Amino acid sequence: MIIRNTTVIKDYENVVNHVSVVIENDEIKDVDDYKIIDEKYKGHDIINGEHKWFMPGLVDCHTHTGQQLLKGKVLDAKPIIWTRIMLPFESTLTPEKMKFMAELSALKMIKSGTLGFIDAGSYFMEEACKVYEASGLIGRITASTMDDPTLPESIRTDSSEALKVLDDLYEKHSSEKIKIYYSLRALNNCSDDLIVKVFDHARERNTFVESHMNEYQQEIDGIVERSGKRPYVFLNELGVLSDKFIGAHSLLLSEEEEEIIKEKDIKICHCPFSNSGKAVADTPNLLKKDITIGFGTDGAAHGGLSLWNEIKIFRNIMNIYHGVPNRIYNVMPAEDLLKMASYNGYQLLDEKGGKIEKGYKANLIGINANTAALMPTGNVLHTLVESVNANDVSDMIVRGKFVMKDREVKTLDEEEILAKAKKYMNQ
Ligand SMILES: [Zn+2]
Repeated sequence: MIIRNTTVIKDYENVVNHVSVVIENDEIKDVDDYKIIDEKYKGHDIINGEHKWFMPGLVDCHTHTGQQLLKGKVLDAKPIIWTRIMLPFESTLTPEKMKFMAELSALKMIKSGTLGFIDAGSYFMEEACKVYEASGLIGRITASTMDDPTLPESIRTDSSEALKVLDDLYEKHSSEKIKIYYSLRALNNCSDDLIVKVFDHARERNTFVESHMNEYQQEIDGIVERSGKRPYVFLNELGVLSDKFIGAHSLLLSEEEEEIIKEKDIKICHCPFSNSGKAVADTPNLLKKDITIGFGTDGAAHGGLSLWNEIKIFRNIMNIYHGVPNRIYNVMPAEDLLKMASYNGYQLLDEKGGKIEKGYKANLIGINANTAALMPTGNVLHTLVESVNANDVSDMIVRGKFVMKDREVKTLDEEEILAKAKKYMNQ
């Protein structure tokens, strides 16, 4: 198909007008002036791209499908919400609830322009895998993995049971668009034995490991008390770290830990809304070191699933914390923000996407620019950061196929999902 005569954000720095994008099978075959494409290609389906902006789809690098039903129940709550709210809720999940939460989550992601995601793991994830497979999204999914003997009985496991859940998920639910990542929920909930085995099993299968890392001071203190070392140093000395590790949050890092992350090419992910109650990361410095950083929402319980919100919050925090006191007027430029929300996310997904260029996977979203909020603009990249919201996303194409066209979702039954949501609302 050809998206004809549109505006394309090619690589986060270059915006080109009046071009057409040629998509064949699951890849981008050509991007050029629309008149040249008109001459060169015949017999393709033509999609009118006028008054739209096309860019690579966004990637949510850290979400919690299993916390969808906690939406609105966490804001203003007294810490620590993990033990008081999250854990008691997750210990009472059912397959039916998980299926519904995955449906709602997939619907919201599609409608917000989030084309790929990494889930941090919960229970009955096989139900989530089935929904996500049907949704057309690109997903990296895991199970909640812990062997803490003090956990509620319904979710208590030992290390071999926890590994079996991950191995089964990997065996049964890996597919073209859904891959299974291994995980540790957080180091504090996992024994040394489990940590080493999770990395071993992931390495044998050439897949990633993810974990919540360096999110709270108490969490870091716990690891220092247990091992005498900070979390990344502890993992490094266990000999398990590689470029296939994702440290979600990674807010409170020592210089030594930053060096380990850089040296091992570890990927990290900030969740700005959620992180605002915890700490401010030294992101300008991390980016200078060429560390790959993506954005995550941390699930619907932390400010919803729109990465457009996360981009805006993050820019403001960086400006007020790192920019203003140091008189740096552009401490987190639009180009970097968009790259983090998209291109970097594809590195965490291990997917060749994130640019609208020949040879890249056709993973893109369209923004309806024909609105008072977005037109006219002196700089499309700036307007994407400042003014675009989830509702402006009109189209989503994943691996060359429409998942949403002019806001109509093609893969899921939106009405049916919203009807189910109403039932939960009334409970
Ligand atoms: Zn999380």
